[in-house]
Amino acid sequence: MIAERLAKTLDGDVIVPGDPAYDAARAVWNAMVDRRPRLIARCSNVADVRAAVLAARDLNIEIGVRCGGHSVLGLGIPEDGLTIDLTPMGAVRVDPTQKRAWVQGGALLGALDRANQPHGLATTAGNVSHTGVGGLTLGGGMGWLARQYGLSCDNVVSFEMVTADGDVIHASQTENADLYWGLRGGGGNFGIVTEFEFRLHEVPNAALLSTLSFPIEAAGSVLRTWRDLAAEAPRQATFTASLPGDQNVVTVGFVWVGHPATRRPLPSMKPLGRPLTENVVELSYVDLQRIDDSPQGHALRRYQKGHYLGELSDDAIEALLQSRTDAAIGALPNIGLQAYGGAIADVPDQDTAFAFRSTAFEYVAASRWTDPAEDDRRMALARRTAAALDPFARGQYVNTLSDEGAEGVRRVYPPDKLARLTAVKDRYDPENVFHLNHNIRPSVQRRAIG
Ligand SMILES: Cc1cc2nc3c(=O)[nH]c(=O)nc-3n(C[C@H](O)[C@H](O)[C@H](O)COP(=O)(O)OP(=O)(O)OC[C@H]3O[C@@H](n4cnc5c(N)ncnc54)[C@H](O)[C@@H]3O)c2cc1C
Repeated sequence: MIAERLAKTLDGDVIVPGDPAYDAARAVWNAMVDRRPRLIARCSNVADVRAAVLAARDLNIEIGVRCGGHSVLGLGIPEDGLTIDLTPMGAVRVDPTQKRAWVQGGALLGALDRANQPHGLATTAGNVSHTGVGGLTLGGGMGWLARQYGLSCDNVVSFEMVTADGDVIHASQTENADLYWGLRGGGGNFGIVTEFEFRLHEVPNAALLSTLSFPIEAAGSVLRTWRDLAAEAPRQATFTASLPGDQNVVTVGFVWVGHPATRRPLPSMKPLGRPLTENVVELSYVDLQRIDDSPQGHALRRYQKGHYLGELSDDAIEALLQSRTDAAIGALPNIGLQAYGGAIADVPDQDTAFAFRSTAFEYVAASRWTDPAEDDRRMALARRTAAALDPFARGQYVNTLSDEGAEGVRRVYPPDKLARLTAVKDRYDPENVFHLNHNIRPSVQRRAIG
């Protein structure tokens, strides 16, 4: 009944249990997510989003907002609730003269890059092209351009948003400035963003990947030297390191984005010693942005833990290596490190809800597997591996949170930011209608939903 009424109102489709499209529409990146929404509203425009919000409120059911579907908890898929599926709203409009892109709230990163690159333009986006612009940008948005141009959220000039009451409002430096502050790092807590206006930069379609692998026995000295090289790196270079969960090697290197003529000198990797393997790959920027699309593909079970590291001390490196030694190789999470710094740290900390801008490296321990019988073991190993870094960590990126709950939110936002975010929540969503996220609770919970 409600579904039929909503379907008549919406330009997009409404999908309910039993429809042939239902299972595909409720599937997300993490195959562990197996929830069954009562309704899935595939929204085609702002009016659809408003109607879907109001319908969920009439029914008093939970709202999940889905863009790329990559949050590890599958936040857009509420059990017996209403999924507001923004994926039909994936268009990107570019004005190369103004160097601006207007991006609908359901767009994927690949669409953003594909629209910008024919004009020799880009803005910071994450490293896997099937990730959503929505969740990534609202949490911050780290990518290969961030050390040159800031995080994705630092490049948003304005937002268009549907509120819990179905109103359409805008946020920018000059309009609803408190909301503009909160949307840059505060996640999907305040409403549904239907359009992002991004600032673009001249970015040639050229990149370079340098990757070296070493035996695990050399990992301590390799990581210490790599860390010291990262500190000297120009902003075009983002240093990365990884310890795969299924091999006894450490892989280090960097990603360079910029015109080949600007690549002199490239960071020298010679101080690292003689590697087992060394690869230098030239590729286009667009190809760089999708090089991990397959390894990071759908249909696998996933779990992750993250940290921000203000510095990567010798002791932290030792703890990181120790965390891998006493458990079975093959079931361990992959450990990744990615350098921050550059333009990320140029933005004054108080300017955005995003916190810990002086982070030197982001750490993520990420597991993937196929057999549900392995769930408990894989998750326990990932937790234990990451816990070894607890004494050295300072904060965490909201988009790496998984099942930490309120404690995780307090880890992501220091008390002053949390207080300011609570004030924004009180103003724009005092009833916590949008609570299926890493939730900023209003100071007074006025009505229980769902
Ligand atoms: C393979 C992979 C690669 C990744 N790489 C990077 C990376 O390079 N850099 C990086 O910073 N992060 C990266 N991430 C983390 C990523 O930023 C988060 O998982 C993010 O939540 C994904 O957003 P989404 O829109 O795809 O997810 P969804 O699950 O669709 O959305 C997550 C939540 O974000 C909110 N949301 C999404 N869109 C909107 C909107 N339009 N309006 C309001 N709220 C919205 C909602 O609360 C929603 O439930 C990666 C994740 C994966 C799985």
